[in-house]
Amino acid sequence: MEQKYHPGKIEARWQSVWEQEKTFSVKADPDREKYYLLEMFPYPSGRIHIGHVRNYTIGDVVARYKRMCGYNVLHPMGWDAFGMPAENAAIANNTHPARWTYDNIAAMRRELKQLGFSYDWDREIATCTPDYYRWEQWVFVKMYEKNMVYQKESYVNWCDRCQTVLANEQVEAGDCWRCGDTVRQKKLWQWFFKITDYAGDLLEYCDRLEGWPEKVTTMQKNWIGKSTGAEIDFPVDGANEVIKVFTTRPDTLFGATFMCLAPEHPLVETLAAGTPQADAVAEFTTRMSRESHADRIMDNREKEGVFIGAYCLNPANGRRMPIYIANFALMEYGTGAVMSVPAHDQRDFEFAKKYELDIIVVIKPEDADESDVARSEAYTGDGIMINSGEFAGMDNTAGKTAIIEYFEKNGIGKGAVNYRLRDWGISRQRYWGAPIPIIHCKTCGTVPVPESDLPVILPEDADLLEGGKSPLESLDAFVSTECPVCGSPARRETDTMDTFVESSWYFERYCSPRHDTAIFDPEAVKYWMPVDQYIGGVEHAVMHLLYSRYFTRVLREFGLVDFKEPFTRLLTQGMVCKETVHCKEHGFLYPEETHYQQEAPYCAKCGQKAAAGRVEKMSKSKKNVIDPNTLVDHYGADTVRLFCLFAAPPERDLEWSEQGVEGSFRFLSRIWRLYARWSGPLENQKPYTGEPSSLSENARDLYIKTHQTIKKVTDDIEERFHFNTAISAVMEMANRMNLVAAETTDPDINGVMRFALDSTAMLLSPIVPHIAEEIWEAMGHAPGTLCDQSWPSYRSDCLVADTRLIVVQVNGKLRGRFEIETGADDETIKRHALEDPNVVRFIDGREIKKVIVVKNKLVNIVL
Ligand SMILES: [Zn+2]
Ligand SMILES: [Zn+2]
Ligand SMILES: [Zn+2]
Repeated sequence: MEQKYHPGKIEARWQSVWEQEKTFSVKADPDREKYYLLEMFPYPSGRIHIGHVRNYTIGDVVARYKRMCGYNVLHPMGWDAFGMPAENAAIANNTHPARWTYDNIAAMRRELKQLGFSYDWDREIATCTPDYYRWEQWVFVKMYEKNMVYQKESYVNWCDRCQTVLANEQVEAGDCWRCGDTVRQKKLWQWFFKITDYAGDLLEYCDRLEGWPEKVTTMQKNWIGKSTGAEIDFPVDGANEVIKVFTTRPDTLFGATFMCLAPEHPLVETLAAGTPQADAVAEFTTRMSRESHADRIMDNREKEGVFIGAYCLNPANGRRMPIYIANFALMEYGTGAVMSVPAHDQRDFEFAKKYELDIIVVIKPEDADESDVARSEAYTGDGIMINSGEFAGMDNTAGKTAIIEYFEKNGIGKGAVNYRLRDWGISRQRYWGAPIPIIHCKTCGTVPVPESDLPVILPEDADLLEGGKSPLESLDAFVSTECPVCGSPARRETDTMDTFVESSWYFERYCSPRHDTAIFDPEAVKYWMPVDQYIGGVEHAVMHLLYSRYFTRVLREFGLVDFKEPFTRLLTQGMVCKETVHCKEHGFLYPEETHYQQEAPYCAKCGQKAAAGRVEKMSKSKKNVIDPNTLVDHYGADTVRLFCLFAAPPERDLEWSEQGVEGSFRFLSRIWRLYARWSGPLENQKPYTGEPSSLSENARDLYIKTHQTIKKVTDDIEERFHFNTAISAVMEMANRMNLVAAETTDPDINGVMRFALDSTAMLLSPIVPHIAEEIWEAMGHAPGTLCDQSWPSYRSDCLVADTRLIVVQVNGKLRGRFEIETGADDETIKRHALEDPNVVRFIDGREIKKVIVVKNKLVNIVL
């Protein structure tokens, strides 16, 4: 073995061994227990960033560990390859999205391989390939047949100049990011998945996802947003129309003094027509249509509205209530109409004050005076109902039920449950996505593409450069087709699917990625699914993770799977953060544009002192980024892996530190030297595996330490994924081994040292696999066999710690004694002594002047 650690050489060697031997390629095997470990697949942006490296390293440790524990481990990797960045990049670089995407995939695959991840590359998928998305189209058609998908008109961000739909992120302060024109809300026919049919079930199962972080299930619950209340009909005064309202506070109905509609509410135009308010209403509606969705839902914005010239009647007391359109009423909440009770809702209160509308108190705290309630702000608490007809005097909680019963008896409303979750709009007026398999026929309407005609292939010869609008509409070869029902000329749907559809089922496809006669091989899915451990960023807490749960339920509806929940356990790893550096003249600086003098940063461009800013998530805009490739080139993949695991537990944020990376490299160099020293002398030595009691004291200590380390590392990985403390334990173990002198005369040492070295290599294997393979081989084992070793087990009789008897003296006289673990620190020994009941009695509350601890022997307390 060479004396010096050269990661570059050894890493490339082991990576090619794993690739040639197909070490990590797996097959379903019903005789073996499976373990499916999955990290969220990346978008092929072109480069692996440090966040990916951390996520995939965490996953790789678990995958390699489970494999050594004897599981048949599925650990696949692929590409979430459709999406808009490809289109933007293609337009900017005058290339094609497909070309750009496949080039990036090739580059990123190379980078991942350099990190030594144990992926089964035979299962690699890219969602932009027809053999992948054809099955998505197939599911769409099935859903269409089962009425689980529908088309409706809804609003999108639209740029008139670019003639294109914009995603929310492409709207910058209300303007088109590309041309700067004002963006407006345009109504378009779009396709929706009926996810709301599953709202109740998705919500209920949140509480059964025991292996998920509670913060994620809580976010999902809030996103689904169940509220219980009543649906009430408000007749419009003098018109044959009814406004339906959902409210969680039917107990406040008698206090409803006006009605607010969303500007998009279908009744607005009808009711305003012909009134003196018609123009004002039209002006307000147009203004609202120019506001972004994010602005509309902002909590603290000024409430405003316009009277629409019509009234409705409060069904409880017949009161005439003016109808407004208001900026805070949203079509997506409830029914798009809000029964406004200013005395008991702060938003309504502010609105009523602004437009001088009536405020009627209908609930008051038991001991309060009616005139003191809702004076300067709404009263939202519980109390006694007043001004509420036959319900006056009731407790408002009981009143809720009573009022709902009354509605139901009189046919003006009913108890109802409302969800905040809306149906999933999957239409994208974009090019780089999976075509929606629908044909529009003048006679037959919308007709799904027959199964035998799938896939509908996205033409890859389209020209994207013209204005940024989807080229599909103008590609006659794509658009013109025949109606599959009547044979007359028809048009293909030109919308593509939201890329979240692809990521809602890729984990099922991985089970049999080359299966070409069905969406997947049912036997393979039955064996591998559900995913045992899923790992990814918490930013996917709602959309991706909720859509995947929904899509799995859809597949279950079709009898394709027999489970509802795709991910048994979920780990959301923290972010990778780094200090930002800012120069007054040059703005944010990249690490390579900064140099340090006495820990203070200076700008390399102008030489001026720069300001060290906050430690923040690494991002290109803040320039506080580290390129993993540079690090791998410089230190090797094992150092980068080790640093990512050692710097913080996985669920916490990791703060980048150059010293931390250096430290990781130094540790691996120490490990290397340790094995370089022992591999020769111990090459033919058998490891000692017998009883600890028959060893010399020195050898026994090392033997026991080894077993304790195995237990510590096993527990830290198995129970908590606390790789950082597992690594600390291995570091301690290495220090202990370094204390062993090679020229000892103790005949027991060699066998125990051999056992310690073999065990440590195995413990390091999931964490830093390349160096671990190399030292394993250097110890005389057959090459390339470490990752197939069984994870080491420990002797429980070695875990019982040695104890010593400590005597306690008070002012020199023996007053107590207790047993404590050998090597316990002074503070612990002192605490034990002072808590001893006998000692407490002798001290009797007197002042303690001094406590002297003699390690492993005695404590003397001086009063
Ligand atoms: Zn534009
Ligand atoms: Zn037809
Ligand atoms: Zn500067």
